[in-house]
Amino acid sequence: MHPQRRMQYLEAIGIDLWVTRRDSGARAAAQVAPGAPAAAPDPSPPPGETAARWEALRSEVLQCTRCPLHITRTQGVFGVGPSRADWLVIGEAPGAEEDRRGEPFVGVAGQLLDAMLRAIGLDRRTNVYIANVLKSRPPGNRDPRPEEVAACLPYLVRQIALLQPKIMLAVGRIAAQNLLATTVPLGRLRGQVHRFGELNTPLVVTYHPAYLLRTPADKRKAWEDLKFARSVYQQLGQGTVTDGNRS
Ligand code: URA
Repeated sequence: MHPQRRMQYLEAIGIDLWVTRRDSGARAAAQVAPGAPAAAPDPSPPPGETAARWEALRSEVLQCTRCPLHITRTQGVFGVGPSRADWLVIGEAPGAEEDRRGEPFVGVAGQLLDAMLRAIGLDRRTNVYIANVLKSRPPGNRDPRPEEVAACLPYLVRQIALLQPKIMLAVGRIAAQNLLATTVPLGRLRGQVHRFGELNTPLVVTYHPAYLLRTPADKRKAWEDLKFARSVYQQLGQGTVTDGNRS
């Protein structure tokens, strides 16, 4: 990605880029956002059988009555993105706008998430799949209850099995703690390569965009997380990913 364009994305996220008058824009951008975009777009449809499995899973989710949230939701929110994306972003649960439109992260927080993802070369239309732990909106956007997570998580696990992402990014405490089956605070889960599931998929953790809207001072830390995730992804092809803290 051109450094100037990445600078525009970072400004859209709300990360201040301090540039001394003597510095050229290109030099500052190179310091803030090094590297090339991580993933090449892959808009090709999956082979027939996988497509049928995706469709069957989607209709199961949309008709699901496993927990009482199906009574209050407008509709189930399955997920969005190419079904062969390398990247999977996982949030908490649909909010009001997602419940109305049937797509994850389409409200104000979703706009920030899109801008964050664009800054590392990702776009839900071409190379990143986006889903939530819960497929139905909890009333009043309250936290998901453990029994709701227990009912819904198997759907996400099946989505992951179909997608087989190369890397997962959990946004926010609820997604991170439920995927990693831990109560460790989000701040201590950041900056590490965790592993998820039978395929040992690398999983990186960052802040939820709704939190970043309330706490813009932490956007810079979120940008560090995104760069870390991108570097993990870039190392995958070289077989050099190691678990543990970033250096
Ligand atoms: N917050 C989430 O975690 N997921 C959404 O889809 C929307 C907001």
